[in-house]
Amino acid sequence: MSKMNGLNGFHRNTNGSSNGTAQKGTCEHDHDDHNHDEIALLEPPVFGFSDDNEIDTDHVSIPRSESLPALPSMSSLGYKLFDANGNTVLTAYEREEMKRLAEQKVQELFDILRIDRNDPNSRDTPNRLAKMWIDEIFKGRYEAAPKVTVFPNRKQVDELVISKGIGVMSVCSHHWQTISGTCTIGYIPGESVIGLSKLTRIADWFSRRGQIQEELGEQIAEYLNTVLKPKAIGVVIKSRHYCMIARGVNSEEEKALMITTAVRGRLERDETLRREFFSLIGS
Ligand SMILES: [Zn+2]
Repeated sequence: MSKMNGLNGFHRNTNGSSNGTAQKGTCEHDHDDHNHDEIALLEPPVFGFSDDNEIDTDHVSIPRSESLPALPSMSSLGYKLFDANGNTVLTAYEREEMKRLAEQKVQELFDILRIDRNDPNSRDTPNRLAKMWIDEIFKGRYEAAPKVTVFPNRKQVDELVISKGIGVMSVCSHHWQTISGTCTIGYIPGESVIGLSKLTRIADWFSRRGQIQEELGEQIAEYLNTVLKPKAIGVVIKSRHYCMIARGVNSEEEKALMITTAVRGRLERDETLRREFFSLIGS
């Protein structure tokens, strides 16, 4: 459990939004469209007009949203709420109870969407969705961190160790649509080296939550930096976001690729090492 506490510590950027103190206007991710939607509900921007009726963009005032009410940090059932990409370990019993309640609510949603409960194709879908979210798509929210096995760096290896092709299967927090791609993790060992399969398990543990790709890469990098204490760590994720493909701007599936990088240690400041890292991983 001590690792979990450490994890909560470095989720502080995102935890702020669930403790009722953060305001939309201070969110670091105002570029996402749902925030824009909420801002659009407020007073329209006040534009200043010059004599010839052109918009005077020097004096555009954007309404602030500080007056939004604080959001609850506890659920109506009395449970502490946490960010979509956070983690709280639940017992098997708690997860079963969560599935039962989720199924009921999804059934209500189906009623709202006027999907006939007798439709043989959809009859068990509320149950399937509840199980899929809790046991698969969001399981990283409720499961303990994977066991991490490290070995002594006996030969004092001081070069990059890179693992490519780590699968990333996640969902975006904004639309609950699939994020599918690959992750590359490279590090220069300190006192320890890590079993390569552990990198895959750690990436999967963080992926199986509601995510935005920028934070997913940062979480993986920060976690490995904490548990492995490497001299350098770099996490590069390339993925397709189906909220951009199946809806919204309908990007072409083959071309819509998002790339994010997160680095720590020597990769932050050593230009030669950065070039070597990015040339080895092919981007
Ligand atoms: Zn999305």
